[in-house]
Amino acid sequence: MTILVTGAAGFIGSNFVLDWLEQCNEPVVNLDLLTYAGNLENLKELEGDPRHQFVRGSIGDRNLVANLLADVKPRAVINFAAESHVDRSIHGPGEFIQTNIVGTFNLLESVRGYWNDLPDAEKAAFRFLHVSTDEVYGSLSKEDPPFSETNQYEPNSPYSASKAASDHLVRAWHHTYGLPVLTTNCSNNYGPYHFPEKLIPLCILNALNGKPLPIYGDGQQIRDWLYVKDHCSAIRRVLEAGKLGETYNVGGWNEKANLDVVNTLCAILDELKPRADGQSYATQIIFVQDRPGHDRRYAIDARKLEKELGWKPQETFETGIKKTVHWYLDNQDWVNHVASGEYRNWVEKQYDGQ
Ligand code: NAD
Repeated sequence: MTILVTGAAGFIGSNFVLDWLEQCNEPVVNLDLLTYAGNLENLKELEGDPRHQFVRGSIGDRNLVANLLADVKPRAVINFAAESHVDRSIHGPGEFIQTNIVGTFNLLESVRGYWNDLPDAEKAAFRFLHVSTDEVYGSLSKEDPPFSETNQYEPNSPYSASKAASDHLVRAWHHTYGLPVLTTNCSNNYGPYHFPEKLIPLCILNALNGKPLPIYGDGQQIRDWLYVKDHCSAIRRVLEAGKLGETYNVGGWNEKANLDVVNTLCAILDELKPRADGQSYATQIIFVQDRPGHDRRYAIDARKLEKELGWKPQETFETGIKKTVHWYLDNQDWVNHVASGEYRNWVEKQYDGQ
């Protein structure tokens, strides 16, 4: 048997594939368009591994996806492919509408065609798992309880609105056509292979390069943080035992203000790689104008996943963030290739023409 994973050259998708192949030998076909966020260097250790096949293409390309499904005959499709950066969505929402909404629609249609033609037993066993975000629920005030699966959708950014729309499409394809779907809504991930446009890797790289550590507004925006490997284990668990048509919130019970996250990173770096002048990296923090419409607080109630499916995260924020800083310090080649844009050359060299 095989699974098809879309967007698996990105941050979470590549961690998922590495984790999956660590846990089992079921082959993975990886469909990724290799946008700026796709980096096959994340999967370098799988070079020559017959359990991983890469195909360059878009989830929105119906012919390509239909042929791929007919060829590979996966027992499940896990959809990570998306435009994922809130700031980019503010400056250029069009891509987000195309990939996250139209792309998911086209993928659902290709998958529906494939699934419809499966023999009964395979049809019953098939799963489409859609990976989504807690940002679809909008923003919480300090006193509000964390988001549960029954919270109303109130997305505030073009990114979260496009993800919310994709979640609705997935839901509708289950209710209308019976497609066996599962959806996960996860909080902010962090860990290895995170593209340095996002807060944690950006601050690690800027700190080490003597650059400012930019904090939006007052830095008191609260996010729930989950180590990426824990997100991967949650997805595996939902795929294995989730109830069809249901959604599962995934989170680490780790609410932190952005400023606290950056101060924690600085304290770890101060210990592991002290600055030559003996000052703390925290002196590099600067406050910049807040993002328009910046959500104040996200928090996830993950009790459904914990109680019904017995999932638990392995890392606390403190252990996960230390592992993450160590990873960035130990993987300077990856960091330098990403920072210099050289990873694009690597991608073209490896997969030119696909
Ligand atoms: P990412 O931006 O790092 O990776 C996205 C990947 O999708 C890239 O490899 C890109 O090349 C690929 N892609 C983009 N458009 C495509 C298309 N049309 N067809 C095929 N591939 C395409 O994103 P990420 O942080 O790994 O997030 C993965 C998924 O998880 C997204 O759906 C995101 O909404 C969701 N999510 C992310 C977080 C987080 O903290 N990063 C939290 C919760 C949910």
